[in-house]
This record gives sequence, C-alpha cells and structure tokens, in this order.
Amino acid sequence: MLNLYLNKGKDESLRRFHPWVFSGAVNHIDGQPSEGDLVRVLTHQGEFVAVGHWQIGSIAVRVLSFENEPIDHKFWVNKLATAYDVRRTIGVAGTNENTTYRLVHGEGDNLPGLVIDMYGRTAVMQAHSVGMHVCRKDIAKALQEVLGDALENVYYKSETTLPFKADLHQENGFIVGNSLDDIAVENGLKFHIDWLKGQKTGFFVDQRDNRSLVEQYSKDRNVLNMFCYTGGFSVYAMRGGARLVHSVDSSQKAVDLVNQNIELNFPSDSRHKAFAEDAFKYLEQMTESYDLVILDPPAFAKHRDAVRHAIKGYTKLNARAMEKMPKGSILFTFSCSQAISKDQFRMAVFTAATLANRKVRILHQLHQPADHPINIYHPEGEYLKGLVLYIE
Ligand code: SAH
Repeated sequence: MLNLYLNKGKDESLRRFHPWVFSGAVNHIDGQPSEGDLVRVLTHQGEFVAVGHWQIGSIAVRVLSFENEPIDHKFWVNKLATAYDVRRTIGVAGTNENTTYRLVHGEGDNLPGLVIDMYGRTAVMQAHSVGMHVCRKDIAKALQEVLGDALENVYYKSETTLPFKADLHQENGFIVGNSLDDIAVENGLKFHIDWLKGQKTGFFVDQRDNRSLVEQYSKDRNVLNMFCYTGGFSVYAMRGGARLVHSVDSSQKAVDLVNQNIELNFPSDSRHKAFAEDAFKYLEQMTESYDLVILDPPAFAKHRDAVRHAIKGYTKLNARAMEKMPKGSILFTFSCSQAISKDQFRMAVFTAATLANRKVRILHQLHQPADHPINIYHPEGEYLKGLVLYIE
C-alpha cells in the first residue's frame, strides 16, 4: 500500500472523522497508485491518519478506516454485520412484512462509495467509487457470510455510477446467483423491482416512511402522484382508501411499472389510472380536482452551480400545483437534490405559496428514513427533504 502525504494542517477534518481527502489537500504520494488502490494517508510529518481508496478527481481519497488495519475479508464482514444490525434495530430487516431496505448507505455506514439495497433475497450493489468497484467480489463474499440464508443473489449495477474516464469496462450483472424473482415487499405491499434496467437500484427505497404517511392521509381523497416512477405512493394511497389515484410520469416505462404494481396489489381496481405526460403540462391542463397531491421530482440540482435554477424549478412546480388545489387539500412536496438545503427548499415552497396566493400551514417536515443514515461527521449525506402542507 502506497503512502499519501497531506499538506500541513490538512489532517484536521480527518481528525474529526470526515471521510474524504480533497485533491488540494494532497502533498505527494510515494509512488503512482492505480485508481481504486488502497493508500495510507499520513500527515506531512508521516503520522498515520487513515486508510482509503484513491481516485482521480476532486475527492482523492474516500476513507475506509481511521485505524491502521488491513482492509480484508474480516474488515468487510465487520462493516456489513454492523450495517445489518442497524437495519434490524430499526425494524426494516428480518421481517416478512418488509423485505425492501437499504443495507449500506455509503458514508452513512462508513463505507464511502458503496450502496447496497435489499429486495427480498436479492442484494443490488452499486459502486460510486473505483475502489468499491475493485472490491465488489470481496464485498459480495462478505455479504454472503453476513446474511446467510437471507441472501440468494447479488446483482451488481454500476454502469452509470462510476467515472467513465476510469475505463473500467464495468458491466451490470449477477455476481452471486441469477434469480429473476423480482417481487419485494415493503410494509406488506408488493412491488416488481426492475433492478436490471430501473433507475438507481430499481426502486426509491428512501420514500418508505413518507409513503406510509401518504397512506394515512388518503382516505376518501382524490390523489395525484406526480413523478410516480414505480408508483410507490400510489399503491399506499390505494391501501389508504383513496377515492381515486392518478399517477403521472413523463416516461411510458414508469407508467407501465406503476400499472403492474397496482395490478399486483389491487387487481382490476378501477380507482387507479396512470398517464405518460410532462408534469407542468399535466398541471396546466388537468380538469380533475385533487385534494392530495404528491410532488416527488428528480433532483433538479445535481451540482452546486445548478442551485439557483433548481430553486426556481421547485418554486414554479409547487406554485402550479397549489394554484389548482381545492381548499383543505394536502400537498406532499419533496426535493432529493443534495445541493439544495432544507432552508433553501422551504424558501422555494414559501415563494410558491406567495405566488399562488394561498394560506399554507406546514404539518410535517420529512426526511430520509433511518436506513439511509447520516454520518454525523458528513452532513453532506443529508439529501432528501419534504414538507406536508395544508392548503387553505
Ligand atoms: N416518486 C417516485 C420517484 C420519482 S423519480 C417514487 O416514489 O419511486 C423521478 C421521476 O420523474 C422519474 O420516473 C422520471 O421519469 C420522472 N420525470 C422526470 N421529469 C419529468 C417531467 N418533466 N414530468 C413528469 N415526470 C418526469
């Protein structure tokens, strides 16, 4: 393992367990590592600080350990066993009622660059760093040891999440098993999970708790689930006793998925309809009056420099929805942009309320669920925020 020396004073954030070394903090490396190699991070005087994966880019090292320890089978087993224990403690793992959860959430589980979502007996593993890509088979092996019978397949899905410049020829595919039994259970509801071609790892696991809250508000309401994707919110609204549920997504594939998932749980239930349409166009032209609306758009700001534009987008979207909602409606509105803070999002929604000239109360402030933990030393890991509003 090569030694990487930091510039003077640049060990400070690492001493507070922040898990990244930025490229500007690096003085020199005593050799030329390949991308994804382990490096030992030292102060400018050669004192040990951390071990991590090296990569070309603004984040030069993602720290795996602040101890001078080998990154071997035992290391991966320990980390994954802790992550699994956390999920059992939360209550999302080890039950038949729920087999859909995030087992590893990158920095939140002290494993920067790694995401593992569980769908029944299938783990979908996603590398966001070259180092995790290099270690994928070791991780899969450790996962088999930790999960035992609860695991049948490991599907690796990193085609779109790794830097293409690293030229890794990564391919999506099974590392363990090959079952295509794609039905997973979330809070007793069934979902087809398209891990082969779907967005992210195939499902937005992070909205589980917020979907339950939608269920609680759905009785006798006319529900609009905008940006529905696989229709998670729609299925919960159906169970909650909604009068009708309309799901909208610009992608026809998403519309097919939501229809499949509704059919799986509520066969031939005529309360549901899905439309392939652009959100703004739908909101402008809709004739139906919806008194429960969910707005869960894709990240409008993927980078810091897109923030201003994104805030405008959130404002416009929310204003359009609020303008048309009848008195006494409920609006669930979300932002999953990491670059937008909770306060910025709230300000965007505040501006929307003003533009729509509506009296609005905040009933709930929502966030990512406990299986997407935030490393306290890495507040950047907080990304999902939502508001539940009462529109007067
Ligand atoms: N609410 C979903 C996740 C939403 S992901 C869930 O709980 O699983 C965002 C979705 O927005 C994607 O499916 C994407 O196809 C859709 N989308 C993106 N731009 C859109 C637009 N302009 N109008 C409607 N849908 C859009």
